[in-house]
Formats: sequence, C-alpha cells, structure tokens
Amino acid sequence: MLLNYMGKDPMQEVELTELGELLPMDLELWGVAGGQPIHSSQKIVDKVKNWVSDSPFSKSISKKIHEGLDKKRILVGFERKGKLRFIWRRFTKRYPFTFPSFSKTKVENTVGYYVRDERTLVVVFDNNVNIVGRAIAELPPVFNHELCHFAFSTNINKALKQLMRPILLPFYKTYLGLLTPKTQNVDDKYLIETIIRLAKAFEPAFRPGIVKSLYNIWEDYVSKVSDDEKFNKTLLGLILLPYAADIIHLKMKKRERNLAKDSQTAFLKTYGSIFGVKGFELWGLGITTPGQEAIFPSEVVAVTNQFRLTPPVINLINSIDMR
Ligand SMILES: [Zn+2]
Repeated sequence: MLLNYMGKDPMQEVELTELGELLPMDLELWGVAGGQPIHSSQKIVDKVKNWVSDSPFSKSISKKIHEGLDKKRILVGFERKGKLRFIWRRFTKRYPFTFPSFSKTKVENTVGYYVRDERTLVVVFDNNVNIVGRAIAELPPVFNHELCHFAFSTNINKALKQLMRPILLPFYKTYLGLLTPKTQNVDDKYLIETIIRLAKAFEPAFRPGIVKSLYNIWEDYVSKVSDDEKFNKTLLGLILLPYAADIIHLKMKKRERNLAKDSQTAFLKTYGSIFGVKGFELWGLGITTPGQEAIFPSEVVAVTNQFRLTPPVINLINSIDMR
C-alpha cells in the first residue's frame, strides 16, 4: 500500500475551471474491491486516462492503465458519494475554529492499494481532495507502485527471473548486512531461495496461516547465519518485528519497539544507499507499513520504481493480463 503525499506544490498550470467538472457529483457505484465500494464516473475515468498519458512518470505504461480502467481491474474514485460532504469538509478545513469537533484536519491524500485475491487495483481520493491540483501529481507514482504489486503477483516466475539480480538480491543482502555483518558469510543461494519462497507463499493471494509460514521461511534462513541460537533468534525478531508492529498491531514492550525501529531504519537506509531513493519519496512508506518487505518482495520493486520505472519493470507491467 502506498499512502502518497508528495509535500510539493501541485502542478499549477491546470485550469481551475476544470474543478467544477470534477467535483464528486453524479457519482455512481463503480465497483467494489476488498469490501470497499468505490464511487466514480466516466468523466473522472477519462480525466485520469489523460493525466497518466501526459505524465512523464507513467507515460510508458499508460496504455496498460487505460486497459485496466476500461476493464475495471483498476478502480479510481471516491469512498463516498455526495457533494454535501465534500463542500462541508472543504469548509471546515478552511475555518477549523468555527467547528471545534472538525478541527483535526486531515492531510489531503490519495490512497492506493492492490487487492491480491481479486486482482484489482484501487485508488481512492480523499473526499476533500483538491482533485485538480494534488491528485494529478500523486496519481502516477501511486499507479506505478501498485502496478508493481499487480505485475509481480500475477506473473511471479517472470518477475523473479528478471528482478532477482538487479533489485531483490542486492536489496535484501544490504538490509540484512545492516542488521548484522554475519549475513555476509552466508551463501547467496540461501537468500535467493528465501526470496522465492516468500514470493510464492504470499504474492498470489492472501492465505490463512500467514504468520506461521512467514516465521518458518525466515527461520530457515536465519539458521544459516550462525551457530549461535540466541543470536539467530534476535535476528529473526529484527526481521519480523516491523511487520508485527505495523500490520498485525502487536503490542510490544519498549525493547521490542526499539528493535522494530532499528529494522525499519535499516529498510529505509537500504533504499537510500543502493537505489538512491530520496527521503521525500519514502515519506509515505515511513508512516504506513515499513516491514512489508519482510513478506512481499514486490514491495521492494514498488518502492524503487514508483518515481522511476526501470525497463524490466516497464516490461513486466506492460505484460499484465487485465482480463
Ligand atoms: Zn506497496
């Protein structure tokens, strides 16, 4: 999932007159994914198509995005319909002191996620989003990110074959090396095996028993790191804690919370040091779910490609079967 907020000025050249056309009026139920109804309109879909074709971020995969939108494998719209709510929220945002109960203004944002079980990508605009300004700037990276998950999960063998050497192996090797130098002595083949096991177990669809099999996969790897059982247990904790902290909201003691933080920092450092992913590009990741990398190898591909699609990833996305 990518909760994207690029703290930058949105594209200013966009005509304000377009706003009227895009207010969430005349919305209809466009689709449901992961139990979440999405309200949209043909006008919004057509506008989104134009934006992604024009954007330098997503131009190279815009035909695939168009196809996904037409076949409703990609749903773009609002959580709720009704302009009253829209105007109300805009108003309370501008005059927060008049309505104390609404003074907690949310950051305008666009949320994207991929529902593996239903092979559907969803992009939801916040109901108070200034759609003409911010959404244009945010949409392409959100599409890029989520389409990496989509492409990976529907074509695992091709993804692993093409991305193991350039992206996946160097990422996990660096990350584990930051946790402990002992991993440098472990043969790469065990890490490659671990990445393949993770991808095959978790990328296609959500399955029950996820915690147990996740534990087993990483435990097998960690047992290759050293003979010190106690040390290996701590390492296993480091790898799995950020996941536990953010995804299953495990209650943790202070020591565990600190370990989880160290591990999250290692993930972020790895993105910066080997792929040059800048701080602001990771901002969304930092506040949502760092640690997904311990489960889904596609997260690494998504983060490193959200602002700069690389040729093998463009190729992979363009071969997605949108049926
Ligand atoms: Zn993601």
